[in-house]
Amino acid sequence: MSVQFCHQCGTGLPPSARFCSSCGVVIPVAQSVPGRPLVRPIVGRQIAGVCLALAQANGWDVAVVRILTVLGFFFSGGFVGIAYLAGWIGIPEEPIQVPGAYPPNL
Ligand SMILES: [Zn+2]
Repeated sequence: MSVQFCHQCGTGLPPSARFCSSCGVVIPVAQSVPGRPLVRPIVGRQIAGVCLALAQANGWDVAVVRILTVLGFFFSGGFVGIAYLAGWIGIPEEPIQVPGAYPPNL
């Protein structure tokens, strides 16, 4: 998270601040950050969706990510393989959208 600034006096405030600590003005709700959360999509994955998750979260071309990952398997002495497994374990799966099962999460 990044620091936000009071639109009235310019004081730096923590992202969770709702009021300026200097002048007391109400801080508008922060705009949602564009981009997608880091999740492993169900649709379109090849193995575990780690490459697709990284590509979508960073705006990269998934084909490039996959090529670099495969090359990394061979040339990194196993580091990429470990990193892939770490991503597999550490990156949450994309929540499955089941129509009617849950209320809209907005
Ligand atoms: Zn202020």
